[in-house]
Amino acid sequence: MEKTKTESLIEKDQSNVWHHISPYVEENPAMIAVKGEGSWLIDHHGNRYLDGMSGLWCVNIGYGREELAKAAYEQMKELCYMPLTQSHIPAIKLAEKINEWLEGEYMIFYSNSGSDANEVAFKLIRQYHQQNGEHGRFKFISRHRAYHGSSMGALSATGQALRKYKYEPLASGFLHITPPDSYRRPENMSVEAYHLMLMEELEKKIIWEQKETIAGIIMEPLITGGGVLIPHHAYMEKVQELCQKYSILLILDEVICGFGRTGKKFGHQHFNIKPDIVTMAKGLTSAYLPLSVTAVKKEIFEKFKGSDENVHFRHINTFGGNPSSCAVALKNLEILEEENLVEKSAQSGKYLLDQLNNGLNSHPNVGDIRGLGLVLGIELVDGKHTKAPVSSKFIAKIVTECKKEGLIIGKNGDTVDGYNNILTLSPPLSSTEEDLNFIVSVLMKVLQNNQ
Ligand code: PLP
Repeated sequence: MEKTKTESLIEKDQSNVWHHISPYVEENPAMIAVKGEGSWLIDHHGNRYLDGMSGLWCVNIGYGREELAKAAYEQMKELCYMPLTQSHIPAIKLAEKINEWLEGEYMIFYSNSGSDANEVAFKLIRQYHQQNGEHGRFKFISRHRAYHGSSMGALSATGQALRKYKYEPLASGFLHITPPDSYRRPENMSVEAYHLMLMEELEKKIIWEQKETIAGIIMEPLITGGGVLIPHHAYMEKVQELCQKYSILLILDEVICGFGRTGKKFGHQHFNIKPDIVTMAKGLTSAYLPLSVTAVKKEIFEKFKGSDENVHFRHINTFGGNPSSCAVALKNLEILEEENLVEKSAQSGKYLLDQLNNGLNSHPNVGDIRGLGLVLGIELVDGKHTKAPVSSKFIAKIVTECKKEGLIIGKNGDTVDGYNNILTLSPPLSSTEEDLNFIVSVLMKVLQNNQ
């Protein structure tokens, strides 16, 4: 019998395309997407799925925006490439715009991915301390459950052991502290007291490691992929205070949280802090083209100026700040502004959180529902009192069944402590109320069928 076109496409995929971070299971072929419209994806069979994860937390303005395709086309015709050893107009305009969004004075270093942006931050911080006469500062502090990327340095900063397993040893000098998991804080302790207790742990870590060896601290405004762990404002303010007290540079990884995802332009703007370095990618272009940024306070950049041999930052990548990527990012930011998508993200996030609470809170396996803007997490437990996590099989079943009902959701990154029990949501900021209601209705149906 002749094979159908779709069957042969699956076979070709399975015999040629090595999928990212996915087990290879022949009887469970990958979804082959062919089109995106708004918050929806269409696969090669014609099935429609609401993308409740915006791809990998990145398609902030939704799929199918012709304005971005046109911006890329126009720029490619005009000037397709120029290395950033020199400059070009879209890079200049975008850097200016990012500074406006950051409400700060930063130098903008362009790369291609979130991992790249974090690598740049680590390298330039080490160089900065050296050029500042502090030769012993090389260590970075991060948190368990955090994800900061897949390259050797960014993976070292990552606090998820299974992501590193079989790839070690990685870069040295990366340390991790306890993440702020408010749902699992000690009984009878307020969220604020718990978060300040974690800050005591941070200060002890700095001291025990010998304070003059700590170069930087990296954190997301909230831990996203590691399970949606939202800090109390006192926690973030204390982090900044400790950084200032011990002359440590603070990196805010805004790779997911930037560009409206949490209901502010940048996630750190929820707190009274001004990071030394901000890394960004994903929503910068709404994933229409690859681009990332390491934004560095101008006073840090001062140390890299001048003609002394090797005082400049000796880092280069071929495609970072590609003119078309910059043009697409500029158009993306224009759309975010014109359509008030940052404010919409705050409102939609609140709406979605309320609807999820109304619809799911009484379910026996729903332990906690939390979120900030359009980053949401649903923690599933075997019992509301024991808070024992459901098995990773159970959570995978929920994700699979949602997909069968036409909804793509995520789950938190693999941990070794058994807490692989958090469903994640991050729909496009442009999602309609109907889209959000669809997410809630599918989750209610699937969870009701699985109790
Ligand atoms: N930082 C955070 C918080 C991320 O979530 C990711 C990717 O998911 C990265 C860094 C790495 O970004 P990329 O996959 O573009 O290298």
